[in-house]
Amino acid sequence: MSIEILPARLANQIAAGEVVERPASVVKELVENSLDAGATRIQIDIERGGHKLIRIRDNGSGINKDELTLALSRHATSKLKSLDDLENICSLGFRGEALASISSVSRLTLSSKTKEQEAAWQAFAEGRDMAVQIKPTAHPDGTTIEVKDLFFNTPARRKFLRTEKTEFNHIDELIKRIALSRFDVSITLTHNDKVVRQYRAKTDPAQAIARVAQVAGKAFAEQSLYIESGDTGLQLYGWVLPVGSNNTTQYTYVNNRMMRDKLILHAIRQAFEEVAGQEELPGFVIYIDIDPRQVDVNVHPAKHEVRFHQGRLVHDFILQAIKQVVVPLQDEFTGVTHSVNHQ
Ligand code: ADP
Ligand code: MG
Repeated sequence: MSIEILPARLANQIAAGEVVERPASVVKELVENSLDAGATRIQIDIERGGHKLIRIRDNGSGINKDELTLALSRHATSKLKSLDDLENICSLGFRGEALASISSVSRLTLSSKTKEQEAAWQAFAEGRDMAVQIKPTAHPDGTTIEVKDLFFNTPARRKFLRTEKTEFNHIDELIKRIALSRFDVSITLTHNDKVVRQYRAKTDPAQAIARVAQVAGKAFAEQSLYIESGDTGLQLYGWVLPVGSNNTTQYTYVNNRMMRDKLILHAIRQAFEEVAGQEELPGFVIYIDIDPRQVDVNVHPAKHEVRFHQGRLVHDFILQAIKQVVVPLQDEFTGVTHSVNHQ
């Protein structure tokens, strides 16, 4: 057997296995790109659960005509130049893999216009045969990416797509999480031409709770306790439901990036266990803002997990912060009232 370098398309398709699991993961990558591009309005159109079409429109920075082909190439990114940047990541993306991966397993059209350009341009790549076609198009400032026929050329992967309804539910859930990561961005989600969600931009922090109510339900917004702790460098804020609530909205964010991180969940669980002896976690929406140099987000391609440089310290900080709002079980019977400690 001889050793050979994989053809580019095959390499991208293999990489796509890590990033592009299902339509919702395509949506995640594309919406994160829009947020990184500074968009304040994002429209997400889905047809047939994303099997047929995923279209993301934004009013962000746009991509230069000269860079359209590059944007679709592997390891091409505008967000990272050096190792030093990697240790101080403020953008959601940085691996330069998403567009290359997605275009290797779909028919992808990228239309864009920067403010500086007079005209808009469109790039088309089918199954990413390396030959990207570029032609003029009409488009306002910003970017639209259309992903058609996901996995059309990887039948084994296409077989794993679930029903349209299931795939759309994954997308809806993802957009809820993203909606709570950026209150200042307006997000619209349509399915088969019907508006399913409309999250209007909330520029006033006091209005944030309205979006929480939209995502997690009115009951969550009414019953939850606001929590705030720490200072620049390491800060936590958000909403936690009281002991015994059975709303299971459990969202956590680190530097506005949605997370499913073991250390964070462990700290929250421990707080409920220590104070109330409760193992089942009630709902919460918690934001942790930390100096980007204190956290490594390059742990997994999908970036669900982070590694804190000072894990112990962060864990105990979260534990103490949450304990402030967990009312001990027995106090509920004796009627003792606790106030939330705002620092
Ligand atoms: P990454 O986000 O890791 O840089 P991607 O493959 O997702 O990699 O995107 C490649 C590059 O294409 C980005 O670095 C960015 O410069 C550009 N890009 C992608 N989507 C958009 C968008 N919606 N608006 C502006 N630029 C974009
Ligand atoms: Mg990206």
